[in-house]
Amino acid sequence: MKNLKFKGIVLYSKDYKENDKILTLFTLEYGLLYAKLVGVKKPNAKLKIIKDVFCFADFEAVSKSDFITITSAEVIETFHDITSDIDKYYTGCNIIKILRAVCFESQPNQVLFVETLKCLKYLSSKNVDNRIIEIKFYLKIFEALGYQLSLKKCSICGDNFINKRYYSIDEGAIVCYSCKNKNSFEISNLCHSVLRLIAECDYEKLHSLKLNNEALIEALNFIMQIYKDKIK
Ligand SMILES: [Zn+2]
Repeated sequence: MKNLKFKGIVLYSKDYKENDKILTLFTLEYGLLYAKLVGVKKPNAKLKIIKDVFCFADFEAVSKSDFITITSAEVIETFHDITSDIDKYYTGCNIIKILRAVCFESQPNQVLFVETLKCLKYLSSKNVDNRIIEIKFYLKIFEALGYQLSLKKCSICGDNFINKRYYSIDEGAIVCYSCKNKNSFEISNLCHSVLRLIAECDYEKLHSLKLNNEALIEALNFIMQIYKDKIK
């Protein structure tokens, strides 16, 4: 039997037996982790509050024959406001869906963990166009996984973007007119500047960005496409 301590965010909570649940956690120390919450569905269960998705807590647990059971938890933040607004909840669920796809057991990623907390904190506390938060999170995901998009300069020749810019499927990067090949598609200047503005803006200031609606739609579609190509 081994005692474990970790900080984690609840990504998913599944019923198990009559009164238990199995949590999927994104933890700072161990990456993705599955842990059992025993008796949590009983009316007076002590650990009831941590069964909810988005909850961020300090956990203590025991690991025995490949199964981890949570023994105590101290809630740091519930991010409750995300679940009380349908748009925020939808965006929060998208963030969790991405995390469940890119996080793995025994593979901690401190950068991604911190970015996730910043993103959830921002989502729960501010009213911003949720597409902006999603684009920001996708950009941060790329960074945390080592696929940072080069938004300022052509990623092949290193020149500043002056005229048209393209996404090169072969390179998995944004390139200039001279460096594009037949497997490249054009990205509009507006879409490109939306991506740059969001990338360069801190979470705390995202709500002050005024962005063109069509460009925002194009940017979100573009970034989701890149995510599918690169990561999934
Ligand atoms: Zn170039």
